[in-house]
Amino acid sequence: MTDRITIRRPDDWHLHLRDGAMLAAVAPHSAGFGRAIIMPNLVPPVVTGAQAAAYRNRILAALPDSAALQPQMTLYLTDATEPADVVAAFRNGIIRAVKLYPAGATTNSASGVTDFDRVQPVLEAMAEAGVTLCVHGEVTDPAVDIFDREAVFIDRVLDPLRRRTPGLRVVMEHVTTSDGVAYARSGGDDLAATITTHHLVINRNAILAGGIRPHYYCLPVAKRESHRLALREAATSGEARFFLGTDSAPHADSAKLQPCGCAGCFTAPNTMSILAQVFEDEGALDRLEAFASLNGAAFYRLPPNDDRITLVRRDRPAAYPARIDAGGETVTVFDPGFPLFWHQED
Ligand SMILES: [Zn+2]
Repeated sequence: MTDRITIRRPDDWHLHLRDGAMLAAVAPHSAGFGRAIIMPNLVPPVVTGAQAAAYRNRILAALPDSAALQPQMTLYLTDATEPADVVAAFRNGIIRAVKLYPAGATTNSASGVTDFDRVQPVLEAMAEAGVTLCVHGEVTDPAVDIFDREAVFIDRVLDPLRRRTPGLRVVMEHVTTSDGVAYARSGGDDLAATITTHHLVINRNAILAGGIRPHYYCLPVAKRESHRLALREAATSGEARFFLGTDSAPHADSAKLQPCGCAGCFTAPNTMSILAQVFEDEGALDRLEAFASLNGAAFYRLPPNDDRITLVRRDRPAAYPARIDAGGETVTVFDPGFPLFWHQED
């Protein structure tokens, strides 16, 4: 049995680092990734190139000197986004992508797009300039069952949007269903999908196992087991269109453990150990590098990272904190529910 693998340094193509004390606490836990697409859903959201540049500086200040991480900034698409601003920020190297949240879809998404006709000129300018659109693919219509919102989004929003904007490069963020996997496969080289660590591990039962488990509540919410298996098949397939975006999304425990608690799983500290176990279980350790280190960079037209990391399987589980301190609050680390024998060595 393989007990040691060396892969190109992985990238995280969907990451929440927050701001202030939370940023300072969580950023070091992503320092071992090479690049990360940084989500712009701060309060207020990151909507201009100047805001993205300032946020990037705050992230760099929160990272240890030894960090490999190069933040890849994004702008939050709103009804008021100007096409020229997006293209200028991209051409100046300030941003890597633009994020589309349907208004109200998830944490801090109230400023999201309410009217897709209004943003069409932005999408056309992005297609022309080669700027990637990262999409939170869920409808927000409360009449649609929460477990169906991804599939309905594909039919009602994403497919029409792609048809009327030829050439637009789209990443379906954190796909959670077999429908999402199938749609990603139906596209050409301009369509890809990220998959999170936690959606490879939990199905919706985990949220309600013997009682409500707030630390397994995330958005998009975990789906039934058949969907989890579809995600594992896609992630471990080696196909270029699927790559890692952890969606590591820290919240203070005091905000999660509430009658109406926040959505998000904090997976940054143990993601690579979890992924190595998942890929080992699927007999696909030789495809972990494609998923975590190669496919995303290729989609974003970047070279893979030069350096490498080594994962070693030991008899003793790797030690991770159950929670970390963030400015006097605690943040609980995602518990995959099984021991993690894969240790990361740099
Ligand atoms: Zn996210």
